[in-house]
Amino acid sequence: MKTSFLFRCINEACGREFELSQKIYQCPACADLLDIIQVGKVLDPIRTKKTLRKRRLSMDSLNVSGVWRYREFLPFTKKEWKHVVTLGEGNNPVLEAPRSARYIGLKQLKVKHLGWNPSGSFKDYGMTVAVTQARKLGCRAVACASTGNTSASMAAYCARTDMKAVVFIPEGQIAYGKLAQALDYGAKTLQIKGNFDAAMELVRDLSGKHDLYLMNSVNPFRLEGQKTVMLELFDQLDWRIPDRIVVPGGNLGNSSSYGKVLYELKQMGFIEKVPRITVIQASGADPLYRTLVTSSRELVPVQDAWTLASAIKIGRPISWKKAVRALQFTDGWCDVVNEQEIADAKAVLGLDGIGCEPASATTVAGLKKLFHISRTTLPEVTIDPDEDVVAVLTGHQLKDPEYTVNYHLNNLYEHAVYENVVVEKARKLQSTYANAPIPVEADPEAILRLLEL
Ligand SMILES: *Cc1c(COP(=O)(O)O)cnc(C)c1O
Repeated sequence: MKTSFLFRCINEACGREFELSQKIYQCPACADLLDIIQVGKVLDPIRTKKTLRKRRLSMDSLNVSGVWRYREFLPFTKKEWKHVVTLGEGNNPVLEAPRSARYIGLKQLKVKHLGWNPSGSFKDYGMTVAVTQARKLGCRAVACASTGNTSASMAAYCARTDMKAVVFIPEGQIAYGKLAQALDYGAKTLQIKGNFDAAMELVRDLSGKHDLYLMNSVNPFRLEGQKTVMLELFDQLDWRIPDRIVVPGGNLGNSSSYGKVLYELKQMGFIEKVPRITVIQASGADPLYRTLVTSSRELVPVQDAWTLASAIKIGRPISWKKAVRALQFTDGWCDVVNEQEIADAKAVLGLDGIGCEPASATTVAGLKKLFHISRTTLPEVTIDPDEDVVAVLTGHQLKDPEYTVNYHLNNLYEHAVYENVVVEKARKLQSTYANAPIPVEADPEAILRLLEL
């Protein structure tokens, strides 16, 4: 039987299936989210793992990509591989982070740094796949709403094709590094008066009615691509499966796709053990957390989501149902951290030589919090010091240098309005691990005295 792929509605009461050639993002019948499922051939774990390893010796562009190396897990047939749009994404290292481990209380901590991608965030894993699908469908224009990284990634991949890229960003609310990328890659960049959730609603509405293919993570092809983060991780770990995977939660695409691939790998016999997914949100943008702690069957949105970690400043995450499913399947949990905890965790990661975006540092902050409070109040989510934990760092340090410099200058505020000079400041954060530059005369004697050499 030949392998084929279909959309299937995630709502079990509906469960309708649709052809992948349709430009749909949600179930046309009940409006719920869609999965992509594979029908037919099942992969043989032993043979496949060997093939994957062999591909690392190959210079073929499909094998060099840390996404397309795992192409048997992606919803394209062999004939369609000619459409692939790649920038050599993936291939991000797994690093030991001993100082961060000590800060948390763990004996050991691994981080997988997805910020070392072509456009500097994990979005490239999903975008190479979604742009490939757009090209296969013959789309002329694609669009997304973005807190910055989705637009940077989409713009880069579109620049490699003849598709027009249109990005909707909340005015004044995205980090400069990310805006710079969208502009450089030639995307039509629309600054919307309003927050991310408003921009998202706008672009969803437009893409439903016009020839504008939607590239947000509601598009199931994005999540299919992001599955390869786990495939690459396990491949790197020689299939020794960790106990826990920690990931920041914004629109919840990442956690959803990890849950999906873990389910598929377990079904196909690639893994026995399933790592527990732990999602960490910022306390000012914590809709998943609110939904879980109130056992609500509907999303509990956050009206005016707020955090300096702009990549996760989202009050109505699209993929929340898939994220809940992922946490249920993996016996996972969601928790929140405040701005101070994020800022300090980011600085501690820095001391390991590992820079990242504020959003990414929620992982280390969340682990520290869970490690310390869970013992007494939440025994069911207790973290053991011996646990084998992988923190997923989602974005590059240089996306948002202003945040980092302000932290080290002891000048980081939860709320600040800048108009060339600061006009309003409130709620200063402590720069616990500040490392400010030192003014000194251009005089060797003075410098030696200062360095105590
Ligand atoms: C997009 C993004 C997130 C949020 O990921 P979701 O899949 O939307 O939950 C976190 N960190 C960074 C750096 C991002 O770019």
